[in-house]
Amino acid sequence: MHRVVDIERFEAESGYEKSLRPAKWEDYIGQEKIKRNLKVFIEASLRRGEALDHILFFGPPGLGKTTLANIISSMMGANIKTTAAPMIEKSGDLAAMLTSIEEGDILFIDEIHRMSPAIEEILYPAMEDFRLDIIIGSGPAAQSVKIDLPRFTLIGATTRAGMLSSPLRERFGMHFRMEFYDNKELAEIVMRAASRLSCQIAPEAAEEIAGRSRGTPRIALRLLRRVRDFSEVAGEERISLESARYGLEQLGVNDIGFDEQDIRVLELLVSSKGRPMGLSTIAAALSEDEGTIEDVVEPYLIANGYIERTARGRIATAKTYELFRLAPPQRETGGLFG
Ligand code: ADP
Repeated sequence: MHRVVDIERFEAESGYEKSLRPAKWEDYIGQEKIKRNLKVFIEASLRRGEALDHILFFGPPGLGKTTLANIISSMMGANIKTTAAPMIEKSGDLAAMLTSIEEGDILFIDEIHRMSPAIEEILYPAMEDFRLDIIIGSGPAAQSVKIDLPRFTLIGATTRAGMLSSPLRERFGMHFRMEFYDNKELAEIVMRAASRLSCQIAPEAAEEIAGRSRGTPRIALRLLRRVRDFSEVAGEERISLESARYGLEQLGVNDIGFDEQDIRVLELLVSSKGRPMGLSTIAAALSEDEGTIEDVVEPYLIANGYIERTARGRIATAKTYELFRLAPPQRETGGLFG
């Protein structure tokens, strides 16, 4: 099914995304609280001449975690090595990485919640004591080897902080939750990206794209690219509000930024008439995996007050019923949506 936030498919376009990735603080829009804190910690560790404490970023895909890791490395004047947890299959893979880094370097591990327990065991002493404990060989000839590592900074990114084992989570000195972006910030990101692409865009068109990007820069950039195509084909020199609207309609993005999948989830919840629905039921009904519903679809709907997560499952809020012009069901107990 067509989905605007499709990470796998988007990877094919990652050259485009990479070329638009801001390299400096000034170009990294929004996330003010995180930026403020990070700047202080970076400055302090530069003054002390020490590596930065390990950092964990969590939040839905496309909100700028990888970009931040890259900006931190350039602020620290450090090298960055990037990988994703599913790519580290054997303990040797991680050992090879850790032994090749230099003092102060940054190791960025994306999707860190997907790390296998055996690899995590190796990571603990590396993060805590900068020591590698590995077993070489097997059987009676197996030998335990300890190697001292340079002080490095691990930056972990995850879409699901809840899935991280607590020993791993506790070894990160700093935790930052990424926020969805507001429309003003997204419009600014779109304007800057357009200028990097040497393409002109009317501010209203940038705002239109922003308003339909589910609070997510990656989606805003992707929509910009698509809208630019429509505008070019229409022979425009500057992307107009009309072609932005037309393009977005064609892409199936509605005017509050929901795509088909959001609408399907909301319709399903509304159809249950106030009865909470479990994640597995939602996933099965939409033929989608639970992880995608939980990591990609739900966070935005919850952040904007369309879904509520209760102990018994998910329910649609009054706002959702309003969206579908339906009367909300009465709850058996307590207030309407208390
Ligand atoms: P994540 O790692 O959280 O999935 P990325 O860091 O890969 O997200 O961000 C996706 C794209 O969105 C980046 O290539 C970058 O161009 C853009 N982007 C993300 N955050 C910002 C921001 N705060 N300001 C400007 N561009 C951003």
